[in-house]
Amino acid sequence: MLKKYLLPDCLFEDIYAITPQFLLGLGVRAVILDIDNTLVTYDDPEPTPEVAAWLDALREAGIKTAFISNNTAERVERFCRGMEDFWSAESGKPMARAFRRAADALGVEARDCMVIGDQLFTDVLGAKRLGMRAAVVRPIKDELTPLFMLKRAGEKIIYALYGIKF
Ligand SMILES: [Mg+2]
Repeated sequence: MLKKYLLPDCLFEDIYAITPQFLLGLGVRAVILDIDNTLVTYDDPEPTPEVAAWLDALREAGIKTAFISNNTAERVERFCRGMEDFWSAESGKPMARAFRRAADALGVEARDCMVIGDQLFTDVLGAKRLGMRAAVVRPIKDELTPLFMLKRAGEKIIYALYGIKF
C-alpha cells in the first residue's frame, strides 16, 4: 500500500542526472515537473541557464514538459514566462486534479508521464494515484520550517522502511 503510493521509481542527486536517453528508454513521453527545490530554490524566480538548457534538451528529444506547483500563480507564472508549456499553480498536490489536467493538456496517457519532484507526500503520491511514474531528486535547499522538517522526517521513515538509502 505505502509502497505502491509513496515510493518513487527512481532517485537522483539532481535533475541533470535525468537524461533524455534515460527517459526515452523507459518510454516516457512527458515529464511533469515540480519547481521549488526540484528545478530551482524557492528564491530563484526564473529558470537558471542550466535548467533552461536541461529543459531544452528534453524537448529536443521529443519529451513534453509541464509544471505543477503548489506555490502561488505569481511565482509559477513568472517562472514559466516565455515557455509554451502547461503550468498549474496552487495545485493542491497530492490531489490528482492538476496531474490529470497536465496529461490531458499534453495529450498523453498517465502511464507515459513521469513526475519529477523532491517530495514523497506531494509529488510522488500525486503521481502514483494516477498511475504515473515518479522520480525524486534531492532537494536543492530545504526550508527549515517545522512543517517541512516534519515532512522530511516522514520521508526518512518511508525510505528506512524499505531499506532505501537516499
Ligand atoms: Mg518541491
